[in-house]
Amino acid sequence: MASKLYHNLIGGQWLPSVSGQTLKNVNPADHSDIVGEFPSSNAADVALAVAAAKKAFATWRLVPAPKRAEILFRAAALLAERKEQYAREMTREMGKVLAETRGDVQEAIDEAYYVAGEGRRLFGVTTPSELANKFAMSVRMPVGVIGMIAPWNFPMAIPSWKLFPALIAGNTCVIKPAEDTPLSTYNLVQTLIDAGLPAGVVNIVSGYGPQAGAPLVEHPDVRAISFTGSSATGSLVAQRAAATFKAVSLEMGGKNAMIVMDDANLELALEGALWGSFGTTGQRCTATSRILLHEAIAAEFTQKIVARAAALKVGNGLDPAVEVGPQINAQQIATSTEYVAIALAEGAKLLTGGTPLTDGPHANGTFFAPTVLGSVTPDMRIAREEVFGPVVSLITFSSFEEAIEIANSIDYGLSTSLYTKDINRAFSAIRDLESGITYINAPTIGAEVHLPFGGVKRTGNGHREGLGSLDFYTTWKSVYVDHSDTLQRAQIDNAE
Ligand code: NAD
Repeated sequence: MASKLYHNLIGGQWLPSVSGQTLKNVNPADHSDIVGEFPSSNAADVALAVAAAKKAFATWRLVPAPKRAEILFRAAALLAERKEQYAREMTREMGKVLAETRGDVQEAIDEAYYVAGEGRRLFGVTTPSELANKFAMSVRMPVGVIGMIAPWNFPMAIPSWKLFPALIAGNTCVIKPAEDTPLSTYNLVQTLIDAGLPAGVVNIVSGYGPQAGAPLVEHPDVRAISFTGSSATGSLVAQRAAATFKAVSLEMGGKNAMIVMDDANLELALEGALWGSFGTTGQRCTATSRILLHEAIAAEFTQKIVARAAALKVGNGLDPAVEVGPQINAQQIATSTEYVAIALAEGAKLLTGGTPLTDGPHANGTFFAPTVLGSVTPDMRIAREEVFGPVVSLITFSSFEEAIEIANSIDYGLSTSLYTKDINRAFSAIRDLESGITYINAPTIGAEVHLPFGGVKRTGNGHREGLGSLDFYTTWKSVYVDHSDTLQRAQIDNAE
């Protein structure tokens, strides 16, 4: 059966790529299942999409924000109605289990309600002028056309974190979804259209990064780029965007540590470790990839996590019995395989997993066994570099201070977690862990949309999604209204 053909969305019209080229969206659990064919776009498609977004900006920026919000409220309700369908389609294109893809759609619903509320806020500031009979205020203005580049691991949630705040603020958008998971972006944008979004306000250009993403970053009419993906690509994007002085928001990789103290509730920490390490098949930017164990509980915890990891059921995420889905593609399998080899060569011990799964129910997909590596030391590459797969390292420490030092000894700074019953240590860790997110007695994953999301060091460049995203999607205008009927000179006429 021929797979369904999708087009780009440009100025409200569904158009094939200018070159006619397409790419296949393949189910990672079953490569014989082609989810759809999507345009493989290039600079010509990007130019059309940016022109459409620029045209739409002239009118969208004048729509009152509470009216823009009504579209988001309607979209939230429609997403809730379509949640099951969109979750199933997401599992088919991305692989993660249904409970998680339902969560991914739910995150878009939460984000829509949260951001729609901003339609009646978008607060600016007023402040006294230094001069008499003069009024001073600052208002938030839209930025213009925003380019958005998304990864494949949260195919609906991440586009929603970018699109919704940009829209409420009056911007227009061109989004390039990840080449592995374009369908969920299509579903999200179709929902916005059904909720009443005018033509041209959101445009989709699907395709590969260098062909479709790079021209978006370079286009002179794109005023800002919101990027989520690897640190390597993020660095390229930032360098290219600098040539045209674009604002760039970068959300990138992680190497997230969970610290388990000797006084922790070990059963709770174990459940958290399994969820944090193997949820989304370890393919979360916030995934737990280092578990730092106090030496007093290390042996017991190790034995328990190895037994539980080995028993996890790996398979097609549409099967309700499956706990861990496939990895997204063969490249990610190669990366996981390579990092296990690097770890073993550097002296780590393979405690379970370590290889792709290729037989029986796994024969047609890209599956990797949940993997636990022991005897890892903080200087090993496996303890410092992002794998983005179901591979977790166990590191032993002997004091709280040492644990914090190990947790901070890497280049990334996205998420950290501490399991302890000692409130003093908990608050010291909140202060001292170098990460944008810290969990106490919970794993490194589980962000909610209305808190700031992002990280420090190689994880980000200072911007935040969630709370704080409006600071990226608006630009301040300071306004002075002089009602004195005289020329009043700041810094001069009020100086004694
Ligand atoms: P990636 O960097 O390979 O790709 C991300 C996006 O960038 C894709 O849409 C891709 O097509 C595009 N791209 C690739 N080359 C490009 C170029 N030269 N110019 C412009 N765009 C280009 O990342 P990925 O494999 O899709 O995602 C995994 C990475 O994303 C991991 O490092 C993960 O930690 C990170 N991530 C971070 C967050 C966060 O919020 N911090 C969230 C999810 C994923």
